[in-house]
Amino acid sequence: MGLFDKKFCDICGNKIGLLGNKKLEDGNMCKDCQKLLSPWFSDRRHSTVEEIKQQLAYREANKARVADFHVSRSLGSSCKLLLDEGKHQFIVTRSSNWQGTNPDVVDFDQLTGCTTRITEDKDELKTKDAEGKETSYMPPRFRYSYDFKVLLTVNHPYFDDMRFDTASFVREETPASADPALMGHGDVFTAAKADLLAIQAWANELLGTDTKTEIEDTMPEVTAVPAPEAAPAAAPAEAPAPAYVTDKNLFVFPALPKTREELLALPRISFQDPFSIAAAAVAAFTRFPEDPEACYDMLDALKGPQPLSTMDKSFIRDRFYDGKDYVPRSYFDGAVPENDYTPQLPIRIRVKESVHSRDLYDQGYITLYVKSGGADSDRALVLRHKPSTDEWFLWNHTGILADVRVPVSADPWA
Ligand SMILES: [Zn+2]
Repeated sequence: MGLFDKKFCDICGNKIGLLGNKKLEDGNMCKDCQKLLSPWFSDRRHSTVEEIKQQLAYREANKARVADFHVSRSLGSSCKLLLDEGKHQFIVTRSSNWQGTNPDVVDFDQLTGCTTRITEDKDELKTKDAEGKETSYMPPRFRYSYDFKVLLTVNHPYFDDMRFDTASFVREETPASADPALMGHGDVFTAAKADLLAIQAWANELLGTDTKTEIEDTMPEVTAVPAPEAAPAAAPAEAPAPAYVTDKNLFVFPALPKTREELLALPRISFQDPFSIAAAAVAAFTRFPEDPEACYDMLDALKGPQPLSTMDKSFIRDRFYDGKDYVPRSYFDGAVPENDYTPQLPIRIRVKESVHSRDLYDQGYITLYVKSGGADSDRALVLRHKPSTDEWFLWNHTGILADVRVPVSADPWA
């Protein structure tokens, strides 16, 4: 009796671990069973054991429909709408390996509505004055974030709508992080817009509607972004900063940080954005081989309320023992075993989300992923939310220290 009684899953019968219980209307379910449910399903607490069992039978049958699905059109980039126009079916997925994730296959005639929208958010970029106080640039500079949003409403037994972003971009006015290779890339933005319009047109044709994509008035003409050659390399401080467009979850760092101060001053690092803290954690680990104490100090900054324990530190030391200093570098663009994991400058790292990233979001956790140039599967980082300050901190970093392929120069069999 009491708090520590073991519970059993009413679906599979397995024992439910501490904190692993997912309450149902009339019973309990384990985490593993929850993972098999549709990612669009949200009414778990009001579902009975019987309803969940029916859904799992539907999900099992869906696997055959996935195996039979032939993509005739793909629209979107970070999250995609895939069409099988021959069978009149569609899938919405974030995964590049979607066949393995059992995405729900929906029939065209289950679609009941579609709205598409491009939203813009504007944040002022700040700098520090001589006393280290935060202050505006003169003239003020801004960062614009764009999300390409889709809402599909469906007539489906287990969910009513599918909300997703087909792309997210930021457009910044800051020479410090301007990546010449990305500057002037209005075309990625234009392509994302074309995809969104195509999704709306597809739905309009199916539904016989004439819904327009909502685009905020403030949207700039992206074609006006200056091309790299138009921006002088050493612009005087008062000159207007070049703007560039990049993926929201692609972080571009001019160099790797050596101290806590340098880490927190990297472009777009913000404790309000868990993706940026994940990117910062990878950057912090690259410091370990040269200066373990500076690395710990940086990680402590990212871990906020719960700094590294002695055990955490010894775990990190162990992972780097044997000269495995290349592991954190392997997460940067262009770093592969063949070039000894030497990243291209400026450093770029993409932080990704999966359909299960937000499984524990209600409890304040998000799991994000980074791709290593020396491993086949993405590696996970867990971030934890602190509600009183609305900040995200690094919670679990062990996944990114796992082994990757040995660099060619250190491989006796190469
Ligand atoms: Zn179970």
